[in-house]
Amino acid sequence: MAMVNGVLGPLDSADLGFTLMHEHILVANWAMRQAFATWIDRDAQIAHAVAEARAAKERGVRTLVDLTPINLGRDIHVIREVAEKADIQVIAATGFYWTEEPWLSGWEPDRLVEFLVRDITHGIQGTNVRAGIIKAATDRPGVTELNRKLLRVAARLHRATGVPISTHTDVHTHTGLAQQEVFGEEGVDLRRVVIGHCGDTEDVDHLEEILRRGSFIGLDRFGLDFMLPMEKRVSVTAELCRRGWVEQLVLSHDACCHIDWLPVETRRQLAPRWHFRHIPDEVIPALRAEGVSEAQIRTMTVDNPRRVFE
Ligand SMILES: [Zn+2]
Repeated sequence: MAMVNGVLGPLDSADLGFTLMHEHILVANWAMRQAFATWIDRDAQIAHAVAEARAAKERGVRTLVDLTPINLGRDIHVIREVAEKADIQVIAATGFYWTEEPWLSGWEPDRLVEFLVRDITHGIQGTNVRAGIIKAATDRPGVTELNRKLLRVAARLHRATGVPISTHTDVHTHTGLAQQEVFGEEGVDLRRVVIGHCGDTEDVDHLEEILRRGSFIGLDRFGLDFMLPMEKRVSVTAELCRRGWVEQLVLSHDACCHIDWLPVETRRQLAPRWHFRHIPDEVIPALRAEGVSEAQIRTMTVDNPRRVFE
């Protein structure tokens, strides 16, 4: 058991319950929000997120991990309001999304850590809401000079606070292994890291390379069928269970109640099942049908999330 920074106060890791390990309440560009008052409809987005979170809760989900980092528009006021109104446990993140933003280039990792550590030790955006997880991200461009710096920031934040790291990767270019290398150089215990977005591939041998180094992997994009259909994601999950990796697998959707990367109607057409209800309603029954046991489902949805935070 361990204390975990929750959005509404400290949580006991033993009380996390069924946890969706990689979700987003709101992804919205801060610069566009500042420039255009109508870029998002804040009240409508909150109401929608509350409805989604309540629907998840009705299906047994007790905790949502919101992995929105600083530069994807993390808005702790919105996150907190949704957690309060939906009466659900939420864990918020600090850290950076992959980027080549010019302002970052002149900063040493330790100087950035001095800022970000306050998100974990004091609170985010002037509130007393503390971050419970550290986000790091590497995509197709790989570990560039700037991206290496951001991975080092995540590693040093983890070493300073003990808060776990959870990542975004591009599994097809094997950026998860590259992240593990940088974290390893920084002295991170790779068992405290979730390498994310590993469910986007059917290359189980590659996933075993990541798993052998001790990290958890996120099978965390259920609902993004256009990237890999649910049936294939379920088969990969079942195969990993058969190969004995169940204790290092966590499940989620990477679903955004609102994301400003594309118009809402386009997103709904593209990914109609991309929401917090898909795993309880469709994925878990499909896993059972593939021979995954109740105990294994509990391990992936309850026990492993708890262990990530302990
Ligand atoms: Zn995400």
